[in-house]
Amino acid sequence: MPRPLAAYIKVLFLTKFSDFALAEPIQKRVAEGGYTTPSPIQQQAIPPALEGKDILGIAQTGTGKTAAFSLPSIHHLLNNKKRAGRFECRMLVLAPTRELARQIADSMTGYSKGLGMFVTSAFGGVPINKQKRVLERGVDVLVATPGRLLDLIDRRFLTLDKVEILVLDEADQMLDLGFIVPLKKIVPMLPRQRQSLFFSATMPKTISQLADQFLTNPVQVSVAPQSTTAERVDQKVTYINQDDKQRLLKDFINKENPDHMLVFTQTKHGADKVVKNLMAVGIHSAAIHGNKSQPQRERALGDFKKGKINILVATDIAARGIDVDGITHVINFDMPNVSEQYVHRIGRTARAGASGISYSLVAPDERQFLRDVVKLTGVKPEVIALPEGYDEPMREEVPARIYGQKPKKFGAKPTRSGPSKNKHSSRKGRPGGGSGRGGPGSSAKGDGPKHWNNGAKSFKRRQTRKADA
Ligand code: AMP
Repeated sequence: MPRPLAAYIKVLFLTKFSDFALAEPIQKRVAEGGYTTPSPIQQQAIPPALEGKDILGIAQTGTGKTAAFSLPSIHHLLNNKKRAGRFECRMLVLAPTRELARQIADSMTGYSKGLGMFVTSAFGGVPINKQKRVLERGVDVLVATPGRLLDLIDRRFLTLDKVEILVLDEADQMLDLGFIVPLKKIVPMLPRQRQSLFFSATMPKTISQLADQFLTNPVQVSVAPQSTTAERVDQKVTYINQDDKQRLLKDFINKENPDHMLVFTQTKHGADKVVKNLMAVGIHSAAIHGNKSQPQRERALGDFKKGKINILVATDIAARGIDVDGITHVINFDMPNVSEQYVHRIGRTARAGASGISYSLVAPDERQFLRDVVKLTGVKPEVIALPEGYDEPMREEVPARIYGQKPKKFGAKPTRSGPSKNKHSSRKGRPGGGSGRGGPGSSAKGDGPKHWNNGAKSFKRRQTRKADA
């Protein structure tokens, strides 16, 4: 239910954490964590959550929503002095990916440090018996992915009878990953009398229907329409042939020597290939995706966080849980075919109000994806021309690639509407072919695209660093 005007006005005055009715020890933890000002989603969500209301929140990762649902929940668990029995949990947080589950559990451990609360996580890829041993003693907070949660319940290592608070995080991604069936199994196992907090970056119809089913008179809160994050990121695109992307990436890395760069590919195989090809030219990176084992995923993310490697190559699924401060660059090696995903990706470099740079390498068959992104965000990325020595990509319309299918060979066969439109195919492999200047309308000065080499800004970190809890 949308909030009345008075509630919005009240929010304007909540400028400090001490303005909330949070228990003293929680306020202390927040201050120790270096948070001074509540983020907009915290301003809106914490007061109704403290009143015990259900919440339907539209907010992306990076807006501070973990604290928005964690702080009032910890307050409630502290005040409502109960102990979780064997194989019970008092608060259940459902997250779509292992990394996100781990990250939420880490944040909640930090927010509740010294308060005598026990927070744990459960997800696939790690031995279930270890999780059983932890759950056996009862936990205050369990952060889980749906599949492993159901597995634990099936084996009678967990019961949801005593859950007081349910959080569903990244609900839209749960849907994308096909978790709707597990969710519909899980929610009826919870007590009817509970508080439910749902968060989603977007609100497709299926999510609002799910919310109608599982929330009671929810207060709706929403922050930062998707474009807002996009506006904080210095977005650039380069039009390029698919086959040249790897070389451009290598040149880019060698020239700019990035501090913390996240490269997105559309497929797991694509991510491995990028890592392998970078390795072949002496550039060390790691891949993170669904085919990697849990220890491999954790090692890659850990090395990236610690700065042991500067480049992490990821697919979208694995990237959701990546909360790394100071990501300087996000590279879309492949354009996402869902525009919202673009916003998620580039948002990795605009966390907690910081700004960053994103580069999208757009092949002819990905132009439609770029157009969709511009439509969604209302922001037109700056076009950076290819450096000397690259073939100019085709400028004609090419059907969008469907990932998982073999890409069409451009110019190979006549299309239905007539002969091949690929005027440039004969230039393939010829260094400096065509005009020698890349990008559409590349020769223009002023409004025209900058040369890729000149246009790239210094890699000096531009983000405002902030303390993490
Ligand atoms: P989240 O959207 O929960 O993933 O949070 C994104 C980042 O913002 C995390 O690194 C948090 O530690 C940080 N953060 C959350 N709330 C605040 C706040 N009020 N002030 C400063 N940083 C915050």
